[in-house]
Amino acid sequence: MRSKVLLIYTGGTIGMMQDVKTGQLKPFDFKHLTEQIPELNKFDVELSAVSFAKPIDSSDMSPAVWIEIATTIKKNYDKHDGFVILHGSDTMSFTASALSFMLENLSKPVILTGSQLPIGTIRTDGKENLITAIEIAATKEKGKPIVSEVCIYFEYQLYRGNRTHKYNSEHFQAFQSPNYPILAEAGVHIKYNRAALQKANTKKLSVHTKLDTNIAILKMFPGITPNAVEAILNTKDAKAIILETFGSGNATTQPWFIESLKKALTKGKVILNITQCNAGKVQQGKYATSAAFEKIGVIGGSDLTTEAAVAKLMFVLGKASGKKEIEKLLMTDLRGEMTI
Ligand code: ASP
Repeated sequence: MRSKVLLIYTGGTIGMMQDVKTGQLKPFDFKHLTEQIPELNKFDVELSAVSFAKPIDSSDMSPAVWIEIATTIKKNYDKHDGFVILHGSDTMSFTASALSFMLENLSKPVILTGSQLPIGTIRTDGKENLITAIEIAATKEKGKPIVSEVCIYFEYQLYRGNRTHKYNSEHFQAFQSPNYPILAEAGVHIKYNRAALQKANTKKLSVHTKLDTNIAILKMFPGITPNAVEAILNTKDAKAIILETFGSGNATTQPWFIESLKKALTKGKVILNITQCNAGKVQQGKYATSAAFEKIGVIGGSDLTTEAAVAKLMFVLGKASGKKEIEKLLMTDLRGEMTI
């Protein structure tokens, strides 16, 4: 039985062309993309595709589009063995994180990929990325998929999507997964890191489409003013704030800062502490500069990336009702996104 894979084309550099007048890169239609990859016809996979009517640069990505993608997967779930989402690399980690929360009990591969150079250019990285992503989405062992989670495939590596971060805007290897091992490496063979892969799920897929975007990010820097801190903490309608701290979760001990956080917490807001470092985790109380956080009720976000923290908050705020439940879910590893 040939595997059935659905390609979902959202846009991104992979399908872009240079505008002759302005020289700018703009998304182009799906037909143009497939014409550039005759190899797609040689696959021993039954490929079908859906394309956004108006493909986008992923900087225009939004929760409304995440809902569209999740709904497309839901509608096509039973008819396909795997899914490949073509997406711009700029916000791919946000989308992969969001989908990981929205698609509960996933038992099939959902692989996001794209490229740094458009498919029509000679040195494009798009062909290999797309072809191997399809192969991973189609691969089964004893009738069951090897991968059953939301991943990013880029430059010979398969990553858990909600652990990734786009760290390089020029290298073909654009992504990193600093706190979780690579799930597979593609060489002559595709070598899967079975110990790191999510265990197969036997429950029925449940698709969550309620996301609450009322969040804000407060990034610490030496010299930050009370005005800047207050402005972010008091963002209109914000129910939760991501606090991006130094090192293992530290910030200034100045009383005005702790007082501002306390005020926000008393008003019922949730504050989630994650690190600005690329790797490692928050450990509230390790240093004196984070001891107050634990006392006043700031939630330690362990090794969540900013991308996963944004997606998790939108998902959790959309799902949970009270502050207690929100905080409990934030401290729980829901989809392999954090180390407990
Ligand atoms: N700006 C592009 C996008 O994210 C970059 C890329 O696709 O790599 O859509």
